[in-house]
Amino acid sequence: MTGPAAILVAAVFGAIVGSFLNVCIYRLPLGQSVVWPSSACPHCKRSLAWFENLPVVSYLVLWGRCRTCRHPISGRYPLVEALTALMCAAAWWYYGPGALVFSRLLFGCALIVLFAIDLEHHLLPNVITLPGMAAGFALSFVCGPGWLDSLFGIMVGGGVLYGIAELYYRVRHEEGLGMGDVKMLAMIGAFIGWKLTLVTLMMASFAGSLVGVALMVAHKGGMKYALPFGTFLALGAALAATTGQGILDWYLRFW
Ligand SMILES: [Zn+2]
Repeated sequence: MTGPAAILVAAVFGAIVGSFLNVCIYRLPLGQSVVWPSSACPHCKRSLAWFENLPVVSYLVLWGRCRTCRHPISGRYPLVEALTALMCAAAWWYYGPGALVFSRLLFGCALIVLFAIDLEHHLLPNVITLPGMAAGFALSFVCGPGWLDSLFGIMVGGGVLYGIAELYYRVRHEEGLGMGDVKMLAMIGAFIGWKLTLVTLMMASFAGSLVGVALMVAHKGGMKYALPFGTFLALGAALAATTGQGILDWYLRFW
C-alpha cells in the first residue's frame, strides 16, 4: 500500500487538493464562495479551460502567464500545489493508510491555507480555524493524540495565547496578538495535543523573533513591524508535528 505507485497516486491527489487550497487562499479573504464560480483569470476575468487548470503543469506550460491577457500568474499557485503534492506523498509514505494520515493531511492543508492568508492579509479566517478545531478533536477519538490530550491541547493552546494577548494589551495598551492567533493555536492543540502545542509556540516565537530582529537590523531599527504571527505558528506547528516528539524526548532526558 505504500509502494512507489501508491506514493505517486498520493502526490497527484495532493496536487489536485493543492489546487483547491489555492482557491481558498485567494477567495476566503475576499469573502467569496470557494465552490462557485469556476476559476478565472483575476486580471481579464476569463474562465479557465480545463487544460489551464492542471496543477503545476499549466503554470509551466503557460510560462506563468494568462493565455489571453498575458498577465503574470502568481508563483504562489504552483508553489502551493507542489508543496501539497509533496506533503501528501510524504505523509502516505510515512504513516500508511489509516485515520492518522487523514488527520495529519487535513491539519497540513489547514496550515498551508492559514500560512498563506496570514502572510498576505494578516488574517486568520474563522471558517478554517473553528471547523479545524472541531475536526481535530473529533479525529482524536480514532487516532493520535487521543481525545483527552486533544482537549488539553485546545485549552492550553487557546488559553496560553489568550493570556499573552491579554497581558500584552494591558502593558502596551495596543493589540499585539489577534483572536485569530488564539483560535489557530487552539486548533493546533486539537490536532497534535498540548505538549506539541507548547513546542509549536516556542518554535513560532523563536522564528518570529529571529525574523523580527533581522527586519529591524535591515531597516536600522526603531521601527515596529506587525509580523503575521499565524504564519510563524503554521511553520512551528509543521515542525512540531513532524519532529516535535523527538525534540521533546531529547529535552526530557535532562530531567
Ligand atoms: Zn487573463
